Amino acid sequence: MAAEIIDGKAFAASLREKVGALAAAFEAQAGRKAGLAVVLVGEDPASQVYVGSKGKATLAANMASFEHRLPAETSAAELLALVDRLNRDPAVDGILVQLPLPGHLDEQAVIAAIDPDKDVDGFHVINAGRLAVGQRGFVPCTPLGCMMMLTDRLGDLSGLEAVVIGRSNIVGKPMAQLLLAANATVTMAHSRTKDLPDVVRRADIVVAAVGRAEMVKGDWLKPGATVIDVGINRLAPEPGAAKGRLVGDVAFEKAREVAGAITPVPGGVGPMTIAVLLRNTLVAAHRNVGIALAEDAI
Ligand code: NDP
Repeated sequence: MAAEIIDGKAFAASLREKVGALAAAFEAQAGRKAGLAVVLVGEDPASQVYVGSKGKATLAANMASFEHRLPAETSAAELLALVDRLNRDPAVDGILVQLPLPGHLDEQAVIAAIDPDKDVDGFHVINAGRLAVGQRGFVPCTPLGCMMMLTDRLGDLSGLEAVVIGRSNIVGKPMAQLLLAANATVTMAHSRTKDLPDVVRRADIVVAAVGRAEMVKGDWLKPGATVIDVGINRLAPEPGAAKGRLVGDVAFEKAREVAGAITPVPGGVGPMTIAVLLRNTLVAAHRNVGIALAEDAI
């Protein structure tokens, strides 16, 4: 039987609706909107698109959006001064600096300058540490979105075998921490892992965050496994086409014959990332003002 397709687009739409309603309630109680500041340095076309869609989604969720578009030659001192201003601005609950930054700017130094309690991307080392030791903080949006889809489908993850392929700080590592906190038995695989197909074959849950088109084959999967495909890869264009197709890290067509459920690319993990960013901003706003919110319920 073909796998159930996990519809990330629909899941994200319903999360955004929920966040929008809670943001309207926040405004009524706090007397101001929850606010997200997004900082873009330079003219990278993909980043411009991301920042534009984040701004639109923020407004649509009844929140205030503060966009700061700076020229590519912005100095470190200028950027850090802006981050400092945003840290101290009470109308700003969340701050996101769009990556990658131009080469002359030190990304780690900029992330370190963000107030951890406004770090809605969850990239600050304080938030990575909080996640590692089980304290309340902010979790990176993409893995948190994956986790929401997993628990929605599987409920309690206790004792399940999970294999995370990829160990980046923004996806693989926080994903593994979340699965561990949910009592899964977690294996982290990476480019030096031996016999990767055998490792993947024992997994009830596979999260692929590699960045290699269709690397995970259908016959690597345990029948019935739940597969979350984080990868976004553009194939070379077919003859006559302007752009190649977008595919994930999993060979979708074969995988869906074996898996129990699978996220498609596009339309799986991707749409969840912005929805979770809005969710994190809503959470930040409530914490900043001291209004209670049932965080685990959203
Ligand atoms: P990174 O490049 O930072 O990390 C890739 C990881 O994959 C590394 O840990 C690397 O191992 C591992 N890897 C590389 N080759 C292999 C291999 N042959 N076998 C096993 N593991 C391998 O990527 P990101 O984590 O930032 O992103 C991963 C993918 O997810 C990309 O396609 C990216 O576009 C996508 N993405 C999608 C998002 C979304 O919203 N849907 C958000 C963020 C990312 P090693 O550490 O040993 O080098």
